[in-house]
Amino acid sequence: MASQLLGSTAKRCDNRSVGVLITDPAGRLLMFDRNTFPPGVAGAAGHIDGHGDEFDAARAEVSEELGLTVTSLSPVCSGWRDNRCRRLPGAEGIGHYWHIYRAEVTGTLTPSARETRNVRWLTPADLQTLTARTAAYARGQITNAQFAEAPGVEPVWVAWLVAAGVVNATRGDLDNIDRAAARGHGMDRKDSPVTSVRNHYGPAEITADGKVIAGGKQVSFTGVNADGSFPGEHGEEDQ
Ligand SMILES: [Zn+2]
Repeated sequence: MASQLLGSTAKRCDNRSVGVLITDPAGRLLMFDRNTFPPGVAGAAGHIDGHGDEFDAARAEVSEELGLTVTSLSPVCSGWRDNRCRRLPGAEGIGHYWHIYRAEVTGTLTPSARETRNVRWLTPADLQTLTARTAAYARGQITNAQFAEAPGVEPVWVAWLVAAGVVNATRGDLDNIDRAAARGHGMDRKDSPVTSVRNHYGPAEITADGKVIAGGKQVSFTGVNADGSFPGEHGEEDQ
């Protein structure tokens, strides 16, 4: 079973992500419910992959996910997060070094139906309410199914919104939410081998035939479909 799940067709994480905050003159943010794993209200974001540098990747994600053209990018913050994506762990294990930008855009909003739904402008007050929902989810007060149905802010985005001065969260809630981001939606068993790769064993090694080895043991991917996607997630690519 595990060898099937770890087929060579599954994409590996590059451990590099960008996220883009698009604001209007009234201070609202253009965000959406992610239609790909993991669920949550988010801005345009994705892996850097072959897009070039992080600025190029930010422009590409805004274009791919929202159909808009970036006219200026201002760095907000950057840093490593242990957040889970749907790919096989990368050379640095599970997590991403993120670059977050504020962007000005032009063009006509034409969101990707595959990657987004319910694209809308949210006020800081709206986002504070959605952050409270994520905090409740991270505390186990909202189930995975309930969160997927009516998501709060995607866990990894909460700290970026705090850093950007848009919302507030307590240290305790931020820690809980970061743990939720590291577990990954629907992967939240304490013994999940996937989520323990980086923290307990250091970076995973991936063998030529696609097996992931951590701490001398092959890692199994409980909860991942045979094609590498996650249950309930039918996108052909990830973020
Ligand atoms: Zn990734």
